[in-house]
Amino acid sequence: MPIKTINELDISGRRVFIRVDFNVPLTPAGGVAEDTRIRESLPTIKYAVENGARVVLASHLGRPKGKPDPKYSLLPVAQRLAELLGFEVLLTDEPVGDGARKVVGDLKAGRVALLENLRYTPAEEANDDTFAKGLASYADVYVNDAFGTAHRAHASTVGIAKHVAAKGMGLLMDRELKFLGKLLGEVERPFVAIIGGAKVSDKIGVLENLLDRVNQLLVGGAMANTFLKAKGGHMGRSLVEEDKLALARSFLKKAEEANVEVLLPRDAIAAPGTKSESGRIVKASAIPEELAALDIGPETARGFADAIARARTLFWNGPMGVFESEPFAAGTLAVARAVADNPGLTVVGGGDSVAAVQKCGVAEKITHISTGGGASLEFLEGKTLPGLAALES
Ligand code: ADP
Ligand code: MG
Repeated sequence: MPIKTINELDISGRRVFIRVDFNVPLTPAGGVAEDTRIRESLPTIKYAVENGARVVLASHLGRPKGKPDPKYSLLPVAQRLAELLGFEVLLTDEPVGDGARKVVGDLKAGRVALLENLRYTPAEEANDDTFAKGLASYADVYVNDAFGTAHRAHASTVGIAKHVAAKGMGLLMDRELKFLGKLLGEVERPFVAIIGGAKVSDKIGVLENLLDRVNQLLVGGAMANTFLKAKGGHMGRSLVEEDKLALARSFLKKAEEANVEVLLPRDAIAAPGTKSESGRIVKASAIPEELAALDIGPETARGFADAIARARTLFWNGPMGVFESEPFAAGTLAVARAVADNPGLTVVGGGDSVAAVQKCGVAEKITHISTGGGASLEFLEGKTLPGLAALES
């Protein structure tokens, strides 16, 4: 069933409850360290304000263990949002309660209130119905714009929806579905997926679903170690998921049957540990006993960049190495640059991969950067996201 977008909903003069993703990183002093997520929610908030809605925003922030904790207050977020909007944002003292009811009740058209951290109570993640009803009591219209939590059935993403008559998605969510949806439909070919990161187990679902769609798969990161070991490689002290070797083997067989070429690293940067100040280039399937593979090597990076340059459609999730550490960042940065240089449809998802793209300064050259790591993977796995299903009408 179709999901309405906010511009298809009647919002003028009504209380519009927007579930946003303000789960931003904080500085040790408690300020907003990075405000991308706040800025990305602006188009939907501004649309609601400009169309005369009484806007009630709600988000979680961090993991306050189900009780109020000033360390996780949304106050710095409210302040940052007010700066970006150029007018006041009222923060309630708790997510639901007398204070919140009063703030929302007094809210005038075109004004914005923000509920305090939804995870100040365990009721949010438990999808508690009483809490969901409490949230719904602030809403004539429910809009979800938090793609990053759409794969979780929480009170503010699922429970609330059945208690509100009018519902739909925000502009950010709409954009996510548009671009991620493209990858699941007809695309220009070749379609190449680059998958890396820590674990095969995190990504096997998406790998399997992509097998029917992509022409080529480039595998890097620690994940590649498990595949290389499954093919008989010697991986030294590299991170390998021993219990996933059979899974990796059966995946490689399926890929062969599906006629999808899987490119594994040929060389690697190996070092004793992630704290090492440098690494050396070794054969990817013959890592010396005392070393771990921590990045793809230069030959692999060139091969991957060539494959990326030939693609017309690209999806990238997961860094090629321990990119947080300078000596092991080159492979990931090379992939980020190659993806950015590709003029076709390029989509990047995953918290760490997005960080790598930003570190490279090439974010604006990517067609779509997904804000939801886990949610984008589950979407591409073909799973139904509960937060989306709840919006169908
Ligand atoms: P994303 O957030 O983009 O989905 P992941 O969370 O799956 O990515 O993986 C990122 C993590 O994987 C990073 O912390 C990175 O250091 C780690 N990683 C990548 N390659 C290796 C490797 N060869 N050895 C150990 N850790 C790795
Ligand atoms: Mg990650």
